Amino acid sequence: MKRTLYLKLLLGYGAFGILGFLTIATFTSRLALNYIIRDTASDLYRESTLLSSSYAANYYRGTMTLEDVTSQFQAVSTYLDAAIQVISNSGQILIHAGQEPPEKTVEGFDITEFGTSYYQTGNFFGAFSEETLSVFSPITINYKVRGYVLIHKPVRDLVALKDGFINISYMTLAIIFLCAFVVLGLFTFTVYIPIWKITRAAKDYSEGNFETQINIHTNDEMGYLAASLNYMATELSTLEEDQRKFIANVSHDFRSPLTSIKGYIEAIMDGTIPHEMQDKYLNIILFETERLNKLTQSMLELNKYGKKGTMLDISSFDINNTIKLVAQSFEGICQEKKISFELILTGETSFVLADMSKIQQVLYNLIDNAIKFSHPDSTITIETTEKNEKVFISVKDTGIGIPKESMKKIWERFYKTDLSRGKDKRGTGLGLAIVKEIISVHNENINVISTEGVGTEFIFTLPLKREKKEGI
Ligand code: ATP
Ligand code: MG
Repeated sequence: MKRTLYLKLLLGYGAFGILGFLTIATFTSRLALNYIIRDTASDLYRESTLLSSSYAANYYRGTMTLEDVTSQFQAVSTYLDAAIQVISNSGQILIHAGQEPPEKTVEGFDITEFGTSYYQTGNFFGAFSEETLSVFSPITINYKVRGYVLIHKPVRDLVALKDGFINISYMTLAIIFLCAFVVLGLFTFTVYIPIWKITRAAKDYSEGNFETQINIHTNDEMGYLAASLNYMATELSTLEEDQRKFIANVSHDFRSPLTSIKGYIEAIMDGTIPHEMQDKYLNIILFETERLNKLTQSMLELNKYGKKGTMLDISSFDINNTIKLVAQSFEGICQEKKISFELILTGETSFVLADMSKIQQVLYNLIDNAIKFSHPDSTITIETTEKNEKVFISVKDTGIGIPKESMKKIWERFYKTDLSRGKDKRGTGLGLAIVKEIISVHNENINVISTEGVGTEFIFTLPLKREKKEGI
């Protein structure tokens, strides 16, 4: 495909040159000769009319001698570079001025052969050896035609004139052809080479090789196209990488609990684990099964946000109340770990516009993390602030914190910091990925501030529904 486009262009360019040349050589050449003959004939006709009405008529009337008329004709003949004759009705040449030595009579002279035209080309009844343009004008005295003034010009002279003109046409064509060549060169650099580069890269992409970068940096459509394709390739390559990582993580997270479940069941069945110890191992099996269940549920949840345009059930609800309810659900575990909540909430109520069940999930995941990664006997602060039509919700703990290098990765699916692994074996690493997706589909933001060993704070925003303005 690459070759043929350029080949077609080159062929078109060649065809344009050859056709142009042929047109000038045939069509233009013939038209030009016809035009020159007609134009010269018209000029000569004017001259012949003048000669017939003046000198020739005077000769017939006897007011001028043959010598005088001949010498006048001679002068005009030199000036016109043509032969001039006065011929009687019977074809007898009475006067001849010009090069070709005349016969005395023109055999078979018949003026009617000119038809309605005042000129003709040919050898003038065999009087000339080469093709000649002959123009006639009758000499009329007392309403009677006494003879004719004829002017003969060799067509060879007119052909020479035409050739000069055609040469100019060839030169013009050559210049046009050269200009077209420059355009072709420009086209090659601005369109063909970029298209060639893009096609080559597209071929690489289709083979799954997204490394290829298209090296076009012009500020035009080609540049934009190349930039878009480069962007697409990078996106596709990271997508591919993400998918690979995702599958590796999922397989790993499913394999380890399944392996331990299988191991313990086998040990129970073949009696390696004595009867009295079975309860302990059945509990471990239950723990692993719960973990698998949680993992599956989290993945199903995440899958919902995978595609664009996730449906949200937006309603107006009191975020303060929601926070209180979610916090209450952690009462048991808080008592166990001696962790207390401090709620600093703006006003009595604070209404927001969002999908309530999803925001509950966000709060649940954030508080769950805060509790998991907090030390016993500590406090978790949940605070809401209203600012610029938004509510800022913060969940802050004084736990293990997140190492600087992990800060960006915590949003990735299955990511868990090394610090947290010892503290929480049940976690799947999907909680924050779900949080991020939920906040993104709400078109809101979530940020994290954390210092390793000091604590962590997650802050996200929700659109505020102004109670007084809306009249709720
Ligand atoms: P899951 O939420 O599925 O139970 P998880 O809590 O390990 O698993 P995420 O909630 O996605 O997964 O959190 C990812 C990682 O980010 C955690 O494993 C932990 O390393 C780190 N992290 C999250 N919240 C905190 C926090 N409040 N303090 C310290 N580290 C945290
Ligand atoms: Mg979590």
